[in-house]
Amino acid sequence: VLELAGVSKRFGRETVIRDLSLSVREGEILTLLGPSGCGKTTTLRLIAGLERPDGGEIRLNGAIVSGAGSFVPPEDRGIGVVFQEFALFPHLTARENVAFGLKGWDRADRERRVDELLDLVNLQSQGDSYPSELSGGQQQRVALARSIAPEPEILLLDEPFSNLDVDLRVRMREEVRRIIKRAGVTAVSVTHDQEEAMSISDRVAVVNGGRIEQIGRPDRVFQHPESRFVAGFLGHAS
Ligand code: ATP
Repeated sequence: VLELAGVSKRFGRETVIRDLSLSVREGEILTLLGPSGCGKTTTLRLIAGLERPDGGEIRLNGAIVSGAGSFVPPEDRGIGVVFQEFALFPHLTARENVAFGLKGWDRADRERRVDELLDLVNLQSQGDSYPSELSGGQQQRVALARSIAPEPEILLLDEPFSNLDVDLRVRMREEVRRIIKRAGVTAVSVTHDQEEAMSISDRVAVVNGGRIEQIGRPDRVFQHPESRFVAGFLGHAS
């Protein structure tokens, strides 16, 4: 579905992404896990088309969206994003927030889709509430529903739990995974939290200095680190 081939990115003299290659499979949740500054957010921004790579290419369903002289703008990539601060519109209700990305849809289809999404995230009775009237977990579910509503090719999640308190964070990991799986969406998330990576991902890619050190199923990566960096990072972060 999504492929990065030899992607690099510099800011000034600093190379933050180095020859990064990655293939994300249809329907999977892949997490980029690594310390602060390793290039996780930059990778998401490259996928979304918010940054242009200096080398390599990014392909979505076989078509080049960045690289080799091509560049598809973010709004035409079919990518949904969930930000850490949720970024809900405070003056719109939950239902209106979810409908936001469906402007081009006809009214009946839009209403049906919004109902389906509120159902998916278990907020049927909160549709008319404003974000300020919802708990942190409910706000996160609205943000997720809004991002999934337009049926994106890829859903990107940037540290989606960092604004939640500890108890809620643990509960929401399972919840978010369940919602993404039920929606059948392909997702790439980033985090520096290994427990989070463990609980939401089908595969984890450990990133160090803009490169992937190791990629695989979470249990495999955690039980069999293949480099000193991976072993050290996983050991220290627990
Ligand atoms: P964090 O978890 O702290 O957000 P990260 O792994 O997501 O870290 P990035 O935000 O991708 O890391 O940043 C990687 C490196 O690129 C950092 O050294 C950062 O300072 C640098 N960087 C990111 N964006 C820019 C920019 N627009 N201009 C210059 N340098 C940047």
